[in-house]
Amino acid sequence: MEETLRVLVVDDDEVDRMAVDRALAKSGIATELLEVSTCAEALVVLQETPLDCVFLDYRLPDEDGLTLVQNARRMGSRVPLVVLTGQGDEQIAVELMKAGATDYLSKSRVTPERLGQILRSAIRVYRAEMQVVVANQQLRESNELLLRKNQELELQRQQIQLQNLKLLEASRLKSQFLATMSHELRTPLNAIIGFSQLLLRRSKGSLTPHQADMVERILNNGKHLLELLNDILDLSKIEAGKLELKPEYFNLKQVVNATLDELRSLAEEKHLTLETRFDLHDPQILNDANRLRQVLVNLLSNAIKFTESGKVWVEVREVAADRITITVGDTGIGIAPNDLQHIFEAFRQVDQTTTRKHSGTGLGLAITSSLVQMMQGKIVVSSQLGQGSTFQVELPRHIALLPATQEGKPFELSTLRL
Ligand code: ADP
Repeated sequence: MEETLRVLVVDDDEVDRMAVDRALAKSGIATELLEVSTCAEALVVLQETPLDCVFLDYRLPDEDGLTLVQNARRMGSRVPLVVLTGQGDEQIAVELMKAGATDYLSKSRVTPERLGQILRSAIRVYRAEMQVVVANQQLRESNELLLRKNQELELQRQQIQLQNLKLLEASRLKSQFLATMSHELRTPLNAIIGFSQLLLRRSKGSLTPHQADMVERILNNGKHLLELLNDILDLSKIEAGKLELKPEYFNLKQVVNATLDELRSLAEEKHLTLETRFDLHDPQILNDANRLRQVLVNLLSNAIKFTESGKVWVEVREVAADRITITVGDTGIGIAPNDLQHIFEAFRQVDQTTTRKHSGTGLGLAITSSLVQMMQGKIVVSSQLGQGSTFQVELPRHIALLPATQEGKPFELSTLRL
């Protein structure tokens, strides 16, 4: 120990104090000595002065050493307390150690070596203890910090949960609003479509070409608007978990061909070739025919819409006894890799400018992928810019009917990627 240690000697006998002083001086340890002769004085020094060790006589004029040890520890002092006992005091050593004394030594055995040894080991223990105290304090502090952080996190979690609930409620209200609006708008729209059809059919001769052209435009725009409304209605139903599939057995080949026939005129207008390939042992499947037709219409009308020349094809294959793939491909404009990841999101279109060439709402693929998901299938796309795109839908031959608990369960927003 290189540094000077501040040591307090408590003894009313001057001769004994000097004996301790001398022994310490000869021990080779640098010490600064403070001396008092009573227990009361010792407690004052203990309170006011930082000390490294205290040597105290067991017999003091005001109190005994045991009381001093007890009081010092009660005050919170952790300084090493070494009690020097007289003849016959040894038997109370156990009491002293229990009360918090660091060590004890019979006065008759005070030698420089012995005192030095006791001082060194007392200081070592004291310092180790202090390190433990500091480490404990640090642990307590970091524990408190963690607790505080935990509380903050819990508060944040609750806030997020609340926000989530609000978002869900807002989303529910939005879906409800969209559903009501689309429904309400469809009634007058059907009247517009119906009457303009009637006008075109019945009054053909009495309308001037200009008038007939205008009525035809009313009819076409009305139909287009109806398609948009139907899409919005479907999407809000899917979101609200209110869209249910109505499974039935039907001939897949027939449905694919009928859908192609419906869209054939669109392809012919653009001089596109329509091709079909069937590789099916058994064309009977269990699914919702109308909804599967809707998936086909969406994919095929996109393929035709985004292809200027070349062909559009549909391939139906049986990839396993209970799995079927329907692939719709085209030689159209293709989709850039960066856009591929977004095209299934609702209202997403690669070209979102108002001057874009192709019309549409950006809902078709969102509805398609949700329907395919409801059919326990999956849809994947591969595309190359300028070369064309391929959308492949894989479905079970027989879709499973949803268990009762799933009915009305809203689709998670994330699956819709709104
Ligand atoms: P939209 O009503 O715009 O067709 P969709 O959800 O059906 O909406 O498609 C989203 C976007 O994905 C389209 O706007 C288009 O940019 C891109 N897309 C879809 N199908 C094709 C395709 N066959 N070829 C090129 N781009 C396509």
